[in-house]
Amino acid sequence: MKILVVEDEPEMQKLLSQFLQEENYVVEEAHDFLSGMDKIAAYDYDCILLDITLPDGSGLDVLRELKRLGKADSVIIISAKNSIEDKVQGLDLGADDYLTKPFHITELNARIKSVIRRKKADGKSYLIMENVKINIEERLALVDEIPMELNRKEFDILVFFGMNKSRIVSKSAIAENIWGDYIDQSNDFDFIYSQIKNLRKKLREHKAKFDISAVYGMGYKLSLK
Ligand code: CA
Repeated sequence: MKILVVEDEPEMQKLLSQFLQEENYVVEEAHDFLSGMDKIAAYDYDCILLDITLPDGSGLDVLRELKRLGKADSVIIISAKNSIEDKVQGLDLGADDYLTKPFHITELNARIKSVIRRKKADGKSYLIMENVKINIEERLALVDEIPMELNRKEFDILVFFGMNKSRIVSKSAIAENIWGDYIDQSNDFDFIYSQIKNLRKKLREHKAKFDISAVYGMGYKLSLK
């Protein structure tokens, strides 16, 4: 899961980034309006935490641009202004939620989980792939109800496939989502190959009823056994 934090206050940005990394999210940062606009145009995020008052523009315009580009990233506005107009406008523009600063970090975490659940897993906290059940919040993967030991990247890759069940996913999409922005400019994706190889081995050992197949020149997709 990848989260973009658009926030100009260094203390706040640091607090959010540290907390979210501890929660196993891949965190990207934008410290002003322009870099926020660049990020949303170039990359996709599972959730964007968006401050409204930025030194060189309004977070609401970042949200407008996101919608204009037809992107589906979830957005939670975090605003210092307890302004009803901002809140209404933000939600009207398509924000998924709105939090007024100061807020408790656990409250934010609950909102993030809820937003991701709503959008990615049809409101459920788990994903089902044949005989495999993934509890996203507990970071638990079960095959026929038996836990499967996965490292952090293997787990994230499995969730990414679970959210893109019928699609071919490119190596650069996997790299960007699991490792973070800018890695897609790497021209060597061997690190993905070895994680997927290990994940496939574990799926086989646990007798999962699907496999991850390479699609030549395009990436990977799930295939039924
Ligand atoms: Ca601000």
